[in-house]
Amino acid sequence: MTPLVDSFGRVHDNLRVSVTDRCNIRCFYCMPETGVQFVNRAEILDFEEIERFVRIAVSLGTTKLRVTGGEPLVRRDLPVLIRRLAAIPGIRDLALTTNGVLLPELAGPLYDAGLRRVNVHLDTLDQERFLRITRRDDLGRVLAGIEAARRLGYRIKLNAVAVKDLLEPDIVPLARYARENGIEARFIEFMPLDAQNLWDRSKVLTADQILATLSREVAPLVPVPDPDPRAPASEYEYADGGGRVGFIASVSKPFCMNCNRFRLTADGKLRYCLFAIHEDDVKTLMRAGGSDEEIAALIRRNVAGKWEGHEISSAKFVAPPRPMYSIGG
Ligand code: SAM
Ligand code: SF4
Repeated sequence: MTPLVDSFGRVHDNLRVSVTDRCNIRCFYCMPETGVQFVNRAEILDFEEIERFVRIAVSLGTTKLRVTGGEPLVRRDLPVLIRRLAAIPGIRDLALTTNGVLLPELAGPLYDAGLRRVNVHLDTLDQERFLRITRRDDLGRVLAGIEAARRLGYRIKLNAVAVKDLLEPDIVPLARYARENGIEARFIEFMPLDAQNLWDRSKVLTADQILATLSREVAPLVPVPDPDPRAPASEYEYADGGGRVGFIASVSKPFCMNCNRFRLTADGKLRYCLFAIHEDDVKTLMRAGGSDEEIAALIRRNVAGKWEGHEISSAKFVAPPRPMYSIGG
């Protein structure tokens, strides 16, 4: 089998599948507060279609799979899908990204279905600030969800979006909370993918700024030895053995040249980059009776056409017409 490779020689073995564009909270850097236009249910891929796509992607060398959204836990019967995906031979790493609100109920059924890794999105431990950021009063549920996942033995990472003049008071409490609970905290630089075009470069709290704060106020951090060169996060560990912290510096230090990821949106569009403008319509091909070979060929073409990088920092940059929730972060 020829690997899934682009014109820059990057091998693609890491797939992100969005299972819904809906969400039960409204983070300001992702969704508008009201009036969100969701895709019609009939346009969303069903479980058979998702599983078929993943099997074809695996036949092209995919070994890592992340389920995301919107909020994946609002997709009805998600554990049924997870069980089917976990059973696909060739998937060596299956993970899920969630806001955690429904984890108290679903951590158990998802674990039973075969899931072992979750990234829980949490920007603050303060109830009032949580409400301001997400426009929902669900901090208690998220914390209970993390606790449930911890007890079950999941590998957990926390994702916080690094917005300048907002996240600063939360950096140290989040890092301490993660450290005390054996969880890796990860800070993701705010990217131009919000629905209301609020982003500009001056609103990005950079990885270096957070690293300096944590090293000074929590404990000294050092780069991990032998990091995975294809991982998007730069990984650090506390010199005192207190665990790891990751930084996704998409804006200040783009990692496009190491990218191994491609994406399927909930409405069946194939994207070679979070910021891609071009997408290919897998759903229409599938629903028109396309064969596995035709779908595989479409995946190869999409990845082959991948650009060198997103160029957020260049004057030429154009934000994609779809915000984060509709692509699948
Ligand atoms: N709803 C789930 C969640 O929030 O984790 C999964 C989907 S969400 C779109 C995936 C990730 O994107 C989250 O970790 C969130 O923090 C991140 N995110 C959303 N909007 C972002 C933005 N404008 N810049 C950077 N990260 C963002
Ligand atoms: Fe929902 Fe995740 Fe977007 Fe927040 S970041 S609004 S939780 S999809």
